[in-house]
Amino acid sequence: MQTKYIFITGGVASSLGKGIISASLGKLLQARGYRITIQKFDPYINIDPGTLNPYEHGECYVTADGMETDLDLGHYERFTGIETTRQNSVTTGQIYLSVIERERRGDYLGKTIQVVPHITDEIKRRMIREEGEFDFVITEIGGTIGDIESQPFLEAIRQLRWQLGSERALNVHLTYVPYLAAAGELKTKPTQTSVKQLQGLGIQPEVLVLRSEHELNKELRAKVAHFCNVDVEAVIQSQDLESIYEVPVNMQRQGLDAICLKKMGTPVGATPELGPWRTFLERRKRATRTVHIGLVGKYDLQDAYKSILESLAHAGIYNDYKVKTTFINSENLTRENLGERLGAMAGIVICPGFGGRGTEGKILAAEYARKFDIPAFGICLGMQMMVIEFARNVLGYADANSTEMDPKTKHPVIDLMEEQKTVTEKGGTMRLGAYDCELVEGSRTWQAYGEETLIRERHRHRYEFNNRYQAEMEGMGMRCVGINPTADLVEIVEIPELRWYVGTQFHPEYSSTVLHPHPLFMSFVKACIEKTGKN
Ligand code: GLN
Repeated sequence: MQTKYIFITGGVASSLGKGIISASLGKLLQARGYRITIQKFDPYINIDPGTLNPYEHGECYVTADGMETDLDLGHYERFTGIETTRQNSVTTGQIYLSVIERERRGDYLGKTIQVVPHITDEIKRRMIREEGEFDFVITEIGGTIGDIESQPFLEAIRQLRWQLGSERALNVHLTYVPYLAAAGELKTKPTQTSVKQLQGLGIQPEVLVLRSEHELNKELRAKVAHFCNVDVEAVIQSQDLESIYEVPVNMQRQGLDAICLKKMGTPVGATPELGPWRTFLERRKRATRTVHIGLVGKYDLQDAYKSILESLAHAGIYNDYKVKTTFINSENLTRENLGERLGAMAGIVICPGFGGRGTEGKILAAEYARKFDIPAFGICLGMQMMVIEFARNVLGYADANSTEMDPKTKHPVIDLMEEQKTVTEKGGTMRLGAYDCELVEGSRTWQAYGEETLIRERHRHRYEFNNRYQAEMEGMGMRCVGINPTADLVEIVEIPELRWYVGTQFHPEYSSTVLHPHPLFMSFVKACIEKTGKN
């Protein structure tokens, strides 16, 4: 079968869950045996979100091939278990950059470069994937259709629909149906307006997904269908659910995947069971006991640590527990309030990050966890803080630090890699993507990974454990149990004599999925549960 394209656009407001709908549709088509991929096209001008503050767009997700991308790619991977690549994340910045580079090379000699056709052609070129690789390519367009910078993407979709025809291109539009409490009514006008706006751009959505906090009855859906030139059965509601992982099942029940197939002239066939997925949901419902885990970080914004939160939730469910996370702002941590803030936690995660803000609080948290033997998981910067704490308080190097925070420290236990020292550009120049790591047999980490000796995990950092201090640290009880075999870089430290005290230079949270929770998170949450039992 020739590759078919489904475009997901959003109207009325952002943050309606386009990413979750895209991931759910991907999941449902995958369950039918189709080869799928999900890609995100973001209208902003940045080349990638790597240099964006998490307050702007939440977490930066990293693909195995080393691209810094939008957090929605994390949803795609968690739902489908299929790895994304750099091709799955495109921004306006990338589009313009390649067109301008070509212009400078002289590829368009004599021609005026315009949004249509040059920019739109480049968008289309990237939307279309190599024939034969996928049955369905789902493309999510970031932002909402009214945004000025979205226009070239929408024009590209309009052209593709015309070029590929109705059997190979389809638009699914997600909108919002607000509930006016004073009138006691659900309002469809914003949806009608949004669809009119799309129609004005030459795009007729074939499927509408209506996000709402309340149940939308048949009459209301029929009314929307009537006003928007859409079949009633193609008006799907996406009500708020207890968990984002309920969404695929809810979409399947309403036939989102079936209607897309039907509209594209593809035989619908039997509805897949989604067995393991349903088992996960049932287990989630049955997990009533709670384990409390503190997230020590500087961003008081859920989306900044999205993948960590999801990884903890997955691991909780597979351990038959609900993980309740409490955000602990590392900037406000002091020696005096440590006990009060961390004391009730069964475990803590020391979060990744950049720059000095909040790092001293993370170091205090690492010390507290080490002294009181609270399970602790340091991720990237969190691991670096564990190392600094150990160097300061166990090795006795009071000024030990990372050269990121203190370039003049006499004890740079965390330092720049040689090849990073000459880098002057900020974007896309870190150690990014998946690298091999050899585990020390018998270590806790090795046990957690099911006694695997070679693992591969994703990275995003510039600074590294300084090998000059390895022997000394090991002598005092902090073990380097994961080493990159080619560069000899320390990727994992642990203190074996504690319950569970592990720091990883990589980001395990990028590869935990619904059907395959990450082994390190599994083992960490298990240790937290055991700690709760013993308190
Ligand atoms: N700032 C640290 C570094 O660049 C850690 C980065 C991170 O936590 N992702 O090495």
